[in-house]
Amino acid sequence: GGRSFPYARSPPDKLLGGLLPDGLDERSCRSRYESSMYRRSTARRPSPQLIAKLRRHEELQKRCGPNTNAYRLAVEQLRSGKSVVGSSPECKYVVSISYRGLGNRILAAASAFLYAMLTDRVLLVDPSNEMDELFCEPFPGTTWLLPRQDFPLASYTNFSIDTAESYGNMLKNKVVSADAPMTAAEKLPAFVYLHLDHDYAHEDKMFFCDDDQRLLSGVQWLVMRTDLYTVPGLFLVTAFQEELDALFPERDAVFHHLARYLFHPSNHVWGLVTRYYRAYLARAELLVGIQVRNFDPRHAQSPHVLRQITSCVWREKLLPEVLATEEHTTTTPGAKSTTAVLITSLRPWYYERIKGMYWDQATVTGEDVSVHQPSNEGQQQFGKKSHDGRAWAEMYLLSLCDVLVTSGWSTFGYVAQGIGGLTPWVLHKQPENLTAAPDPPCFKDVSMEPCFHAPHVYDCKMRRGLDPGEVVPHVRHCQDVSWGLKLV
Ligand code: GDP
Repeated sequence: GGRSFPYARSPPDKLLGGLLPDGLDERSCRSRYESSMYRRSTARRPSPQLIAKLRRHEELQKRCGPNTNAYRLAVEQLRSGKSVVGSSPECKYVVSISYRGLGNRILAAASAFLYAMLTDRVLLVDPSNEMDELFCEPFPGTTWLLPRQDFPLASYTNFSIDTAESYGNMLKNKVVSADAPMTAAEKLPAFVYLHLDHDYAHEDKMFFCDDDQRLLSGVQWLVMRTDLYTVPGLFLVTAFQEELDALFPERDAVFHHLARYLFHPSNHVWGLVTRYYRAYLARAELLVGIQVRNFDPRHAQSPHVLRQITSCVWREKLLPEVLATEEHTTTTPGAKSTTAVLITSLRPWYYERIKGMYWDQATVTGEDVSVHQPSNEGQQQFGKKSHDGRAWAEMYLLSLCDVLVTSGWSTFGYVAQGIGGLTPWVLHKQPENLTAAPDPPCFKDVSMEPCFHAPHVYDCKMRRGLDPGEVVPHVRHCQDVSWGLKLV
């Protein structure tokens, strides 16, 4: 790179091709306009339609968001427990509940945001679990955080599959029906809770049907709980397809754009990202990220998993192999290119082994390989302040690599690959009783998109089961979660 952009491979593009609005305060959110100075991979360009839609949506967020008259009226309406009578409401909302791991929370907010754009609703994010501290505000001149103090649904964070106001339960109890085409406005509830959690029932999943979307479009307040990347499901709703085609001509880059638009590390997290990057990674010519997620604690120190990782990176020629001990290659100091490996994991074991391997043994190419892991937090923790900041910084650091190896099933890895615009090599999830390294150890994914782990297996028109991976060519089953769906 040139002198003005020491880390990026191409000139920095502050606004990411028009994705980001110009003129926001740079000091309160340094990552927003600095990120392109650190990114090596070539980012995808947003379509003009997406750019225009985002600018219109920003207007909506500002006109209807917290601290406006429209918002006060809408909150009063919700408090009254009745729906707007007569005309349709001026402003409509979708509140996204934030829970579970950071990867899940990011996928949930991105999914809720796309749904909000498609249905002209204001997105409000539940500030729980530090969502207010990890990210900058994405929308100019307003907040995307739900003001909890005067929100009438005081216990919304406890809404569950049993909540009477869930869409699924309202269907079951015939409180609403998507079949009656013109449900009178006064019969609509003031709000509907959308339970789109991994444990959701068939009726909840009717959310992904056209008739149900028509009914929901009249409801002023929607409260959504999901821990899933539901976007591939939205691509199967006929009513959304035309607009989605226009907004995203490159369907494998939907999350890439949504995530780079919405999720800017707060200044504290950006400090963690940039200090680490400059100190340990910036000078390497090749940067290989390896995300090790062990869902089974028995695999926290498994020689088989270690073998899986090394055979993946060697077979796919992502890193040079090591020579048998005592052998040497003649290396002129400074002549060979440098490779740095960034490992993220809750435990230090794999990092220590791989680092030791490249210290003890020379590489066949004579390259030197440095190995780094920013933290080892031990285990997933809840409600601890520094923990999620580190997780967010590590996801972001992975996204800055040239090449990525991720662990199948992990939303942590999905976020990194999506932000980075990197199609990863994916380590197969290890079976419980592991007696050898999985063979093959990894596969190259078909796109950088996250996988939707629990789609609706249903034909809304014919009212019978169907394989959702067979409906349109760009929504296919995932390789890591075989029943899941992803955009390609
Ligand atoms: P998933 O469970 O792999 O789908 O990812 P999530 O991000 O939803 O939840 C896992 C949580 O565990 C993260 O949010 C972190 O808090 C923690 N975690 C998992 N892997 C790592 C890691 O490599 N580094 C750090 N710092 N935290 C991790």
